Amino acid sequence: MAKRETSVPVRVCVYVDPPEGSAVEYLSTQHGTQAKQILRNIPRKYGKYGPIPDFDHGGTFTLQDAGRLMELLTWLQANVPNHHVVAFGLWDTQTLRRARWVPLAAPGEPVDCEVEDSTPLNRWKRISCSVCKWPDEKLQEPYFVRSSVRRSSHEIFLGVNGIAVVRSRVRELLERVAADQLDFAPVAIAGRTRKVEADLFAMRPLHLIQSSTVHTLTRCPSCHHVRKYDYATNIQIPLLNRFGPPEYMIARTEPWMVSKDELWSDVIMAGELFAYLYNHSVKGLLWPREGGYLSSANESPITTHRFISDDYASTKDRMARKKWQLR
Ligand SMILES: [Zn+2]
Repeated sequence: MAKRETSVPVRVCVYVDPPEGSAVEYLSTQHGTQAKQILRNIPRKYGKYGPIPDFDHGGTFTLQDAGRLMELLTWLQANVPNHHVVAFGLWDTQTLRRARWVPLAAPGEPVDCEVEDSTPLNRWKRISCSVCKWPDEKLQEPYFVRSSVRRSSHEIFLGVNGIAVVRSRVRELLERVAADQLDFAPVAIAGRTRKVEADLFAMRPLHLIQSSTVHTLTRCPSCHHVRKYDYATNIQIPLLNRFGPPEYMIARTEPWMVSKDELWSDVIMAGELFAYLYNHSVKGLLWPREGGYLSSANESPITTHRFISDDYASTKDRMARKKWQLR
């Protein structure tokens, strides 16, 4: 089958009941031999989609089309007891810039928390659901960050709750292309006066993209927000449930509640928006090393939709010069 232009190959690692330690060692033991036999059955079903797998190295093989991934997961569920799956797309520079969604990555810890115990520096003012006490997620003004931000030369910082902190140049870059998809709030340094920093803004994407339903989510019966997210899942894949409307360029993953002051949510953006920021040399923006997200609804992880007009592109295409491939 020819590789679809709109897909990426996916590296799939399947472990069967690995005890503490290495799956490689486990598979070479007498007990592990049976597990290895089960793993060998996978390519009989999926082999035509990928090269000959090598199950001596932890049960790893390549699916040529991400669209087969959910089918494979369903097959594993029915046929392989106690398995654990790790999968990731095999992205390169050119597919990454067409990725439907990539995570926003920046160095260091979130700048809106205490360094010692990660307590959020901002508290919600109101709740929006009386049953689960879900907060009214409006951005607090001013939005407090640690003083280290002031000394940094970076232009973009990670926050908690699906929030990022950006300097005015990044705000302007984003507002040029996605003004209607973002909310901004003034920023002040925590523990000092409420004096607003002229060059810093809290940024929160307005749109939500639903987390993958392969994880067990417990929702509030009243507001349907995710109260609990099952970490003990046997699947580790950068998955979103559905990618959402094609015009969404920046979004948050659907939050779930860690504590009454903290929701877990990531900022995500279209590969094209990442490329735009990267080409404009935004300081502190990290390359999303794990590549883009896959879809549990089998949507193409690569989009042909164009988000940004050439009028806004940087004159330098730094991304084109970047040699990178996930293997
Ligand atoms: Zn609720």
